[in-house]
Amino acid sequence: MEERMRFSCSLCNREYPLDTRDFRCQCGGAFDLDWTPEPFPISSLQGREMSVWRYRESIPILHDENIVSLHEGFTPLLPFSYGEFKKILLKLDYLCPTGSYKDRGSSILISKLKELGVTSCIADSSGNAGASIAAYSARAGIQCKIYCPAYTSEGKLVQIRAYGAQLVRVPGTRADTAEAVQEEAKKVYYASHNWNPFFSAGVKTMAFEICEQMGWNVPDAVLCPTGYSGIYIGLYDGFKELVRHGVIDKIPRLIGIQSEAVSPIYQAFSRKAGEVAEVPSRTTLAEGIACVHPVRGKRILEIAQETRGCFEIVSEKEIMEGWKELARRGIYVEPTSAVVVRAIDRLQQKALLDGQESIVLILTGIGLKATETLSKYVSAENE
Ligand SMILES: [Zn+2]
Repeated sequence: MEERMRFSCSLCNREYPLDTRDFRCQCGGAFDLDWTPEPFPISSLQGREMSVWRYRESIPILHDENIVSLHEGFTPLLPFSYGEFKKILLKLDYLCPTGSYKDRGSSILISKLKELGVTSCIADSSGNAGASIAAYSARAGIQCKIYCPAYTSEGKLVQIRAYGAQLVRVPGTRADTAEAVQEEAKKVYYASHNWNPFFSAGVKTMAFEICEQMGWNVPDAVLCPTGYSGIYIGLYDGFKELVRHGVIDKIPRLIGIQSEAVSPIYQAFSRKAGEVAEVPSRTTLAEGIACVHPVRGKRILEIAQETRGCFEIVSEKEIMEGWKELARRGIYVEPTSAVVVRAIDRLQQKALLDGQESIVLILTGIGLKATETLSKYVSAENE
């Protein structure tokens, strides 16, 4: 397995060894992981642990002793009725160990760092990935420094510090934070959840779980919050792998939801562009997807084409309406996750979804991380 595993550039195909300290190709392209996993044995999964590691054959870690895990994954798939839609399932990924889906990626990425003998790393994040990478670094005994935009929710910043990571708060936008970390990345291993393919290799397990929890069937569509598109691409990779191994026969329509305030992918898709152009930075309640320029824009648009998927936006008002809809039925997520709810109405109005379809909504982060923001919305009403 080791011999065959390489990074290759998604733009120019140039190859790099796994222990490269470049986080992207010299041409600027993002790395893909050049590796074809073995199929995992569906008939004998039952006795395996209820985490992403139950799909062990599909995870690019060579030796079990390098596994860094907090039993992430295998989150519930919960029925939810909404309007005339009767077949909606919520994937409660906010129930991962650090309160967000990022733990899937962090577990595999930090395991790989351990396997490569890396002893310290840096990462940048709007909050959730930083908390997650800090937690797994702590578990692995790897030193960790996290760069966050200064505006990040206090709940996430406290969590990052609690895990023992050094925190650097960068004034300005999310893009300013990414720039600051890239300077430091010349010296220290950059454990980037947006650039590093080992992170994506963990996110694809979400697709495996959805299929397994549906009796190895696929839903008609999956809606996910979309910023850098880690989930969007991860879901595609996961479903594609199952198709390749003959487990399922189609990939569901993948529908990415952005906030209207920061919606570069939606805009590119709407004008049928082949690449995603940068948009101005604006504040939004959906801070976890406030990405002005995703690093794999071309790929994201290709996936939408291939899966007959699309992108949709929701306003700030719709984000809070969706959030309330969930909260009033016992589901407490951060505003970023709530973008998927009202998007259903918009898609239905455009005849891009209908009530007969089976739909999975991905809920990415727990509400407890966004207490300051959310307190402004609940206090007035309940007193
Ligand atoms: Zn290249």
